[in-house]
Amino acid sequence: MPIASFIIKNNFQRRNDIHYEDILTSEILEDVCFRITGQREYSVTFDSTDYNKGRLAKLEYRGEISYISFSEFEIRSRNSFFQSFPTALVKYHEEENPNKRIFFYFLPPDGNIETNYFRFMYRLMKTAGTEFLNDREFLNSRILPFSSVEDIILNKNNIRDRNRSNNSTFLTKDEYSNLEIFGKTYGANKYETTLLCLAIAKVATTNIILYEIQEGNLRQLPRPARELLNSFNRIRIITSDLTLEREEFEKNDSLRSPSFIYNLLEKLGDKKCCLCGCEIPQLIQGAHIWPVANIKRTNNISRQEKIQHALDGDNGIWLCNNHHKLFDIDLIMIDNEGGIKYKSDLREIDEDYVCDFTNHNRINTQFLTPNFLQYLERRNNFINPDLYTPLDL
Ligand SMILES: [Zn+2]
Repeated sequence: MPIASFIIKNNFQRRNDIHYEDILTSEILEDVCFRITGQREYSVTFDSTDYNKGRLAKLEYRGEISYISFSEFEIRSRNSFFQSFPTALVKYHEEENPNKRIFFYFLPPDGNIETNYFRFMYRLMKTAGTEFLNDREFLNSRILPFSSVEDIILNKNNIRDRNRSNNSTFLTKDEYSNLEIFGKTYGANKYETTLLCLAIAKVATTNIILYEIQEGNLRQLPRPARELLNSFNRIRIITSDLTLEREEFEKNDSLRSPSFIYNLLEKLGDKKCCLCGCEIPQLIQGAHIWPVANIKRTNNISRQEKIQHALDGDNGIWLCNNHHKLFDIDLIMIDNEGGIKYKSDLREIDEDYVCDFTNHNRINTQFLTPNFLQYLERRNNFINPDLYTPLDL
């Protein structure tokens, strides 16, 4: 009779002088072993290779290898509970034995582990192929995988945190229906971004572009996660660093800048035209208030400052294709108080058209930050407000 064999890292738990046996007690190992193999007998060997922490054990039985990720006890922040799992998931993907499975095992938690955010993360884990060994003992309801990217986007938006810095990843679509993931890829954010990508890769039917958003020197996912994501044909990774942004700035006035889009997502939320409310992401663009062409022509500021103005989330709004064009050719203007006006000399038939599909007569006041208003003034320096009529809804 073959015996199931656990392989546990030497450094399973190093903090606070806690030894792995304090966490993975013989009862727990037996329970895990039984749930996976139906056997209660097991042996334990140690793996001294030094990979990143992952609260991970492996179990070999009859030629099959199981990766088991164990939950954290402490719930210090909403990300810390999940920080080990993506590492385990990446390790699992690297496993060469095709007979492999990945499991998650709950250890008794010290706090609430069934918040909306936690449930969202469990569902991502399930979507990415994770089997939960003992969720029924710890959670009130079953964990269902996501069935589509739309399903993920909808649920991700529903759990958006009021604390802005927690919203590090954004999902949307570009004009070609590519799925875009804008993610901060360092610190605690990298765990969420990695898991999100691996879950999305399971259900996406279109190409996926991951934009790694830089901050300071930290700009890329950890190498193993990056290599894994790069190995999927459907995933493309673009690092938004200053070199890329500088090139974009020199080449284009429309500035297809990932950092600009990220900053708009962070400030304005999901793509939604500020003038008509259209929410079809493929039709929505980031429109500059102070146009990039004008920024470039300004003499008294450095190139670095120009780029910062071009990327500033306060220097933009979401507009649909049509409204963006109308705004760019100054058929529509936003006055210095955020009111929306249109050119008074429009033909009546054009006036009817413009007024018909413009449903807002002012910009949402919460977007009118002092910075935003300054950009408006800079734009409007070139516009004669007497030529415009306020939009009458
Ligand atoms: Zn619109």
